[in-house]
Amino acid sequence: QQDTLSTAATSAVFSHSNAAKTTAVEFRQVSKSFGHHLVIRNVDLSVASGDVVAVCGPSGSGKSTLIRLINQLETVTDGEILIHNKPTRGLNGSALRELRTHIGFVFQQFNLYAHLTAQDNVSLALIKVHGWKKSDARGKALALLTRVGLQDKAQHYPEQLSGGQQQRVAIARALVTDPDIILFDEPTSALDPEMIGEVLLVMQELAKSGITMIVVTHEMSFAREIADRVIFMDGGEILEQAEPEDFFLRPQHPRAQRFLQKVL
Ligand code: ADP
Ligand code: MG
Repeated sequence: QQDTLSTAATSAVFSHSNAAKTTAVEFRQVSKSFGHHLVIRNVDLSVASGDVVAVCGPSGSGKSTLIRLINQLETVTDGEILIHNKPTRGLNGSALRELRTHIGFVFQQFNLYAHLTAQDNVSLALIKVHGWKKSDARGKALALLTRVGLQDKAQHYPEQLSGGQQQRVAIARALVTDPDIILFDEPTSALDPEMIGEVLLVMQELAKSGITMIVVTHEMSFAREIADRVIFMDGGEILEQAEPEDFFLRPQHPRAQRFLQKVL
């Protein structure tokens, strides 16, 4: 099982150093309904390896659903999502586990296990899903906690940590399988204002590492300063995609203009 992971790590390094960027995530005419409610409408999207994409838009516009479709927390109703050019529709069992090994996910509410220490939260998947030896998994968890500045909190339980620290543990956990894509769903929305900065800093470091990042966020500073591209969604559609400078200074779609007037 460790081989699978090291292969993933090698291919990640390969794709990052590849001069011609490959496509990490591609949506082809993707729609998603809940019952009769169409919440993602014919979305086409292409994200290159190593790109950092910020997804913004009003509440209910489909942002969470869009990224949850990528690692199949939701399944598409129509169309196709390709990860590194491979179709993903209908994957299950070990193929789905393999897909999720390549794709980390960070939730708004951290979703840490309350009864496990920070270190055990991070190492759990390596032991339970990937068959690592406990000592190896713990070592890797500690290295990741160090990377997010929490080496001295490894033995703390979630309730002993601030919201910002919990979210940094969750980021370490999302990185434990060396994913080459990481998805964030409003990672700072549940945090007190004074803790937002520490999480954004970790995300900024991560962005420099060459991992592909898709970040649903209301942090316009993140979108402006760190993202390579901003996507604006409304009503289940991508209404605008632009480089941050163009999006913030020259939004084209009237709904994007209205949205920016409200949030800026
Ligand atoms: P956003 O993240 O932009 O706020 P969501 O993707 O969460 O938007 O939701 C888009 C629409 O889909 C909303 O109308 C929401 O109520 C609906 N929706 C999301 N998840 C579900 C679900 N599991 N069942 C039914 N409706 C859902
Ligand atoms: Mg959401």
